[in-house]
Parts: sequence; C-alpha cells; structure tokens
Amino acid sequence: MRDFCAAKYRRLCVALVDAGYQSLTLADYFQSGGLPLEARRVILRHDIDRFPGMAIPLARIERELGLRATYHVRVPATFNPAVIRTLAELGHEVGFHYENLSKSRGELVRARQGFADDLAQLRTLCEVKTVSMHGSPASRIDNRDLWRSRSGIDDGLLGEAYLDMDYRTVLYYSDTGRTWQEGRFNIRDHIPDGQSRITGAPVVRTTDDLIDLIAREGRNLYLVAHPERWPVSPGGWALAGLKDLAFNWAKVLIRKSYAIRTR
Ligand SMILES: [Zn+2]
Repeated sequence: MRDFCAAKYRRLCVALVDAGYQSLTLADYFQSGGLPLEARRVILRHDIDRFPGMAIPLARIERELGLRATYHVRVPATFNPAVIRTLAELGHEVGFHYENLSKSRGELVRARQGFADDLAQLRTLCEVKTVSMHGSPASRIDNRDLWRSRSGIDDGLLGEAYLDMDYRTVLYYSDTGRTWQEGRFNIRDHIPDGQSRITGAPVVRTTDDLIDLIAREGRNLYLVAHPERWPVSPGGWALAGLKDLAFNWAKVLIRKSYAIRTR
C-alpha cells in the first residue's frame, strides 16, 4: 500500500485503537491541565492548509474508529462552512489556523485586529477554543510572534497548539514534507526552540515506522497530519506527491536564501 493516502491513514488509526490509545482533542488536552507521560493518549491535529473537502474522508475514518481529532482551518483560505459544519457534526473539534502576522507583514496591531475578526467569523459556525499558527514558508515572519509581549493568549481561547503544549509529556510527529521525520523540509512545524522536550525520541520516517512505534509505545502521541497529503484516489496521491516534491525543494531554496541574507 502507498504511504500518505487515506487507506494508510486508516491503518494508522486502527493501530492506535488496537494499541489501546485514546484520543484527546487539543481543547481536551488544555482542559486536562497536563498529562502523565505514559497515559496512552493521542492528540490528532489536522491543519487544513488547502482543499478543505479533503478533510472529510479522514474525519469519517476517525469517527468510525471512535477517535476525536482537532481540525484547524485558515480564514479565509480554507474557510468552507459546509466542511466546518460536517467536521463538527462528526464530533471533532474545529479551531483556527492563523496567519495574521504574515498577512499584515509583521504589523502587530493590524494582525491582532485581523486575528479577532477571523476568529469571530469562524465562531459564527462553531465553538473555537484552540489555535495553531500557519507556517508560511515563503514569509520570514513567524505567526506565533503575534503573542509577543502578551502574557498568554486570551480571546476566550484555551491554548496555542505549539506554544502551550508540554512536549515533555508527548512524542510529537508531523507529516510536513511527506515524512514524519523532523528535518530540512520542515521550516517551522516543529517543537519551538527553547521548549523542553522528550530527549532521544524515536525517529520515524514512514507511516509504517509510525505504526510499528505505536505497537510498542505507551507514551502519549501528538500527531499532525495535513489532509491534503492523504488523498483517497491514486490520481490524487500522484498529484499530492508531486506537490510535496516541489514544495520541499522550494523550502530548501528558501532556507538557503535565509542563510545568505542573514550572513
Ligand atoms: Zn498550515
């Protein structure tokens, strides 16, 4: 079976259930006030960067297997009311994948206003309790800097998906760059510098590696998967693969240009 398709995602979910993992939405996690490391909990977060409809097959697979996930949508890029309502009806959490600081080109006051407006728009459709930054690779701005000079996040929110996570109690893996391994194809979607984390976390590359890991782990998992990377059809799979290849090499070039400019 091909990696990074909906059928493989189902296998991943089945492996979680078979290993006795229970799901936790991000809101559940923030409300729990922290987890013991070996609680066998999994947080499934999906950042909907493009093609919102592609989230629905994954959401149905999770629902069928009794897992609840957290879907974060961009406003307006992936703000699709029908999709958002369906995700909420399937029992999943919907949150905000914000990018207001890169949109305002770093202008903080405008970014905060934009954040409040976008959040209000999303809240006309569903409850929103958690947010995550969208890491625009082409921009030098880190959207998490929106919280700079603030003591924490408010706006009726429970937490930010990167900043408020205790990485000492979860093993974190993201599919960014079409690999679960942290590396050069991943500019921002990793554990923020300076945050404490589990040392010597197992390295996994493919989804099969991750499935093997799940079978022998008891530690909590925090998994981030972008629905556009997990298509149902073989045609969609080939297209997603080509896009990832192009994006990955674009990111390598962007990294090189950062290095040259900051030298
Ligand atoms: Zn994103």
